[in-house]
Amino acid sequence: MLRSCRDLNRLCRVWMQNQRQLSLQEYQSKSILAKHGCVVQTFIVADSKEDAEKKLNGRHFDEYVVKAQILAGGRGKGRFIGGPKDLGGVYISNDKKDALNSIPEMVGRHLVTKQTSKKGALVDKVMVAEGVTIVRETYLAVLLDRDSNGPVIVASPAGGMDIEEVAEKQPELIFKEVIDITKGIAREQSMRLAKNLNFEGKLAESAADQIERLYQLCLAVDATQVEINPFVETSDGKVYCVDAKMNFDDSAQFRQKEIFEMGDRSDMDQREIEADQYNLNYIPMQGNIGCLVNGAGLAMATMDIIKLNGGEPANFLDVGGAVTEEGVFHAFRIITSDPQVKCVLVNIFGGIVNCATIARGIIAASQRIKLTVPLVVRLEGTNVDEARKLIADSGLPVISAHDLNEAASKAVAAIS
Ligand code: ADP
Ligand code: MG
Repeated sequence: MLRSCRDLNRLCRVWMQNQRQLSLQEYQSKSILAKHGCVVQTFIVADSKEDAEKKLNGRHFDEYVVKAQILAGGRGKGRFIGGPKDLGGVYISNDKKDALNSIPEMVGRHLVTKQTSKKGALVDKVMVAEGVTIVRETYLAVLLDRDSNGPVIVASPAGGMDIEEVAEKQPELIFKEVIDITKGIAREQSMRLAKNLNFEGKLAESAADQIERLYQLCLAVDATQVEINPFVETSDGKVYCVDAKMNFDDSAQFRQKEIFEMGDRSDMDQREIEADQYNLNYIPMQGNIGCLVNGAGLAMATMDIIKLNGGEPANFLDVGGAVTEEGVFHAFRIITSDPQVKCVLVNIFGGIVNCATIARGIIAASQRIKLTVPLVVRLEGTNVDEARKLIADSGLPVISAHDLNEAASKAVAAIS
């Protein structure tokens, strides 16, 4: 059930494969895991070889694992653009010097993995971790599941690799445990999961402990997903979380300040970051008709009708009900900063929002940013007469439309 515009916005993002959920780097997720009593290896984070040497401070490990920090998985099998042919995003060596020498080969380069685009993701930090002797790699994830309307723990003894592939080819190796959020996880459930992961005896006990801790952690930090792949058994009889990926619910930002401050926004579109500062829900797209709309549902409908009329939307933008003149200005500025935009379509149905506020914003923005592309405006609702008069009196070459379909067809006509 959709509860609010916020939900709808979220849905739109998922739909557009552009979900805005905070993701953290592995080292950040692991520090949260450690804080909550989960077992992770000793590690440092560095941005250069010298930095790593300093932070290791004379410490020696039997094995060193150097891991590129990017917000995507599949690093082990990834390759660096312009880097050595055989170097992936996870480099393991017994020799400290050799391990440290891999750092300048990673930092500053783009790492391409199955989960990144062809351009890869820029590596600006690496983790140097103590190696553990892995006997078995398993898969573990705590996530929110739509079907059961609550948390689910997914486990597979076939860990370390691509879990989607396991789910497809060997679905019998995927185990699920639905957790009743009002009761929490029962020992019986965590033990069953541990056994399904083929942990035995004492190891099953410690795996179950960590599974319980991971579940508690998920609730405590408002995570929408915690994925440990691999969750391993070591030769000295321990259970470790060797890799970690966490996502958080954006709605929890107000109560998870510390976590959200860690957020790495470097791979977010600059315009999205700016829009966020002005409380605008903006998602860039591929087309050339910029859209300024109030309400997530109307914004979706606007994009649909543009397409129906043979055009392509350049963005999704919901200015929200509480938008100010200044907000409208920034929305315009952000939309038109995209050189692909050849026309702007404003579609406002003033319920909460006052059309006159929008009109003043449009006029101010057109003048301040010297709008050079055609502007199609459809205004309806609260204070619409005053708004229309303001636009007429402004002398701006606005193309007016009475309904959404007319607005969309006029926008398409204006660029063709
Ligand atoms: P990714 O999922 O991005 O490829 P992982 O952290 O899962 O990165 O590492 C890939 C593989 O590298 C693991 O499945 C594991 O076999 C090995 N590995 C990673 N970290 C360690 C470690 N600390 N000690 C030993 N092996 C490791
Ligand atoms: Mg992994």
